[in-house]
Amino acid sequence: MADIDVVVQGLGVAGSLLAARLALQGFRVRAYDLSRDYLKPCGEQLTLEETPLRVARSTGAIKTIVRTVDVAVSGKLVTSVTMKPSKWAIIDKPRMIAALREMAKAEGSEVVWGPAAQVPGALTVDARGPYSGPRTFREGLALALRVVARVRSWEGDLALLDFWPALGGLFWVFPYDSEGKVVNAGAGFVGVSNANFVRDQVIKYLRHLLGPHEVLEVKGAPINLFTRPRLSRGTSILVGEAAGLVMAWSGEGNRPAINSAEALAEAIREVGTEDRGALSKTYAALVKKTAREAEMSRLALRLFGTSRISNAFLRLTSDDVWAKYVRQELEPLDLLRALVAL
Ligand SMILES: Cc1cc2nc3c(=O)[nH]c(=O)nc-3n(C[C@H](O)[C@H](O)[C@H](O)COP(=O)(O)OP(=O)(O)OC[C@H]3O[C@@H](n4cnc5c(N)ncnc54)[C@H](O)[C@@H]3O)c2cc1C
Repeated sequence: MADIDVVVQGLGVAGSLLAARLALQGFRVRAYDLSRDYLKPCGEQLTLEETPLRVARSTGAIKTIVRTVDVAVSGKLVTSVTMKPSKWAIIDKPRMIAALREMAKAEGSEVVWGPAAQVPGALTVDARGPYSGPRTFREGLALALRVVARVRSWEGDLALLDFWPALGGLFWVFPYDSEGKVVNAGAGFVGVSNANFVRDQVIKYLRHLLGPHEVLEVKGAPINLFTRPRLSRGTSILVGEAAGLVMAWSGEGNRPAINSAEALAEAIREVGTEDRGALSKTYAALVKKTAREAEMSRLALRLFGTSRISNAFLRLTSDDVWAKYVRQELEPLDLLRALVAL
């Protein structure tokens, strides 16, 4: 018999939370990550549903609350969504992950800094995010790149999403501090994996929007926008972005990573690690809502991501639909109605 119950491969959002939860539940966990510090760049937006809010609060990771999200299409403002109460936070993501890793260790998880391995007899959970499996930029990954920049002024509670169907993607500008001095701006375009091109687009965009600014950091990373959500591969269970649980139309992956890790921890608590069939079934039931949302978001990206029609559609979409999109409450029926109304 293995002396480990669960191997967690990758200690990002999903893996570190899962390792902490499972260790707390008394499972013997070994977790792997390539790096002691979480290095991947992110917009650091988190949608404040109950579970993500609890995780962000308990790790002291909330930097600022976003009250207003401006939505633009090809540089033209189409609506301004003010949220009361707010559903968006900007978090210090490396801090959240460091705290979760510490919790995992404190609860008895064994942490190995190095490439993920398997342990015979133990359940393997793949939480390596976009680095899971043999995917390439051709096979489903996109490049997202962020620039952290000091600017003259930005509101600490304002975010901007600007869709550019002609470029096949979007720009974002989020606060990076609460004082409006530093922003986290970035972009991702379908089919573009040239980091220099994306960096130049973001810097040009920022100059046009906010004038002169000082670039403090530029970093890109892959994001898994196109593979269909799947919860297992071979004998491994998949969680977070490794499972394709990313909202492709917005690039939102933090909330799905948290929700799927909580769902898997709950499934393992309920049925244990031995009966893999029962575990897969229970996990699938608990993560169903997140997987459905991810499917729908992929469909929306395919429909509205690139074409000219989508430019018109995005401009004419009602404020009500945008408000639901920003609050992550958009249902397939809302999109259908919006299409019919055009
Ligand atoms: C530039 C950018 C901006 C983004 N902005 C946002 C945003 O604002 N809001 C949002 O919700 N989402 C955003 N996302 C998406 C979000 O970052 C991810 O979906 C989320 O981090 C997924 O969490 P995860 O735990 O599944 O994977 P990750 O957070 O990617 O963690 C994977 C972990 O696995 C480790 N790993 C990789 N390979 C191995 C290996 N071989 N062995 C061991 N360990 C390994 C890595 O070191 C990492 O720690 C953005 C993504 C990018 C690239």
